[in-house]
Amino acid sequence: MLTLDALRTNPGLLKLDLYCRGARLDDSCFIEEDGGRKILRTRAGLGSGLEVILPGNLWTNIPVSERFARRSPYSLHRERGLYVLRLDGEAVTTLALSPRPHWYDAATSTGKPMTRIGTLQGTYLGIYQAKVCEYWTQKPVKVNCKFCSVGLNLGIDDAEEKSVEEVMEVIRAARHESGITYVDFNTGHYEGDTYLDILEPFVLRIKKELGLLVGVQTPPHRDLKRYDHLREIGVNRVSFCFEIFDRRRFEEICPGKHAEYGLDHYLEAVRYCATLTDEGPSDEPWVTNGEIIAGLEPPESSIAAIDWITSVGAIPTVCVFRPLVGTDLEDWDPPATEPMIPVFRRLYEACMERGLPIGLAPNIHVSLVMLPEECRWLSPKRFRWQSAKLAVMKRVFGRMFERKLRRTEGPAAAGAA
Ligand code: SF4
Repeated sequence: MLTLDALRTNPGLLKLDLYCRGARLDDSCFIEEDGGRKILRTRAGLGSGLEVILPGNLWTNIPVSERFARRSPYSLHRERGLYVLRLDGEAVTTLALSPRPHWYDAATSTGKPMTRIGTLQGTYLGIYQAKVCEYWTQKPVKVNCKFCSVGLNLGIDDAEEKSVEEVMEVIRAARHESGITYVDFNTGHYEGDTYLDILEPFVLRIKKELGLLVGVQTPPHRDLKRYDHLREIGVNRVSFCFEIFDRRRFEEICPGKHAEYGLDHYLEAVRYCATLTDEGPSDEPWVTNGEIIAGLEPPESSIAAIDWITSVGAIPTVCVFRPLVGTDLEDWDPPATEPMIPVFRRLYEACMERGLPIGLAPNIHVSLVMLPEECRWLSPKRFRWQSAKLAVMKRVFGRMFERKLRRTEGPAAAGAA
């Protein structure tokens, strides 16, 4: 399946293959000079890499810094003003650099570089809020997740203290200039389960002043009733990263999560939150994500996780394992592409079979994962009836969202969506 022809004509397959194999940057590339985004260090344990847009408007983040990427068969070249991706020297496609907005070079009124408050991941704004995850500082032995880099780079790329005012300033800049529609907050674990208390003031301000979609990705609070409240105040997405469905692997790779919450509590939080769909404000959509990393357990275990998540009405977020520089797993290999294809095919098919609301939010392109709807490129099934229904829902939701933006931000707002 991984022929040059297939990679040239199937951007979903190309996106997946680039996650697994990375790319080398030829000396002819001038990413920042050509308006691209700086290759920042890792965010929230996920991705470093080069932000680009593939054919089919698939936004992605290509590994370029890791050891495996340095021996990749892919290389990126600047040729006559275009960026050309080559595989073993053969041209695969041209691609566009994800644009770097002006606010990337600006500072907040308190003097902090705006990119230390938040960065674009594709077309949404990602904010790692609050201090470093306490698994990294636990004594006598730290119990961080072994793939994670959060404790390595906090204080380098991310500001440690981020006030509500500073965060709002960056969100306004990103909204005004980059047309963002969605803000995603991410935290690690804090003693006393304080992460939701920390995030709520931010959510309330964004909802009141901008009306944007907001998501939170935190550990699963021990009091699940707290998610009823999040739903009430208009949060649109909750995401629980249990990473690995295989219990032994989970315990080995995520010792902090295992000791503090356990896999069962993660799963219960996913299940519970997925039942809250009909609660809360009717004009605020609500989705629950269970997040896993493919490549850290056998593909059949990832597929079992996808089937379980979708069976309770939640939507899987599936990352491809990236052995980030400096992490405990930096010497591991990323997964090979072929065994990943059935995993991501299943992601699409399971969501469609269950009639889950995928791909509805306006202007959201995610660079760090394959979105379920992008995985249609890996499936021979067409799901015509379900696709038509999703297209209608997308139009209805888009109109509703524009009206809401107009109400909160004023008439000039909706056009930017
Ligand atoms: S919970 Fe794990 S993945 Fe999340 S920030 Fe902490 S160590 Fe990293």
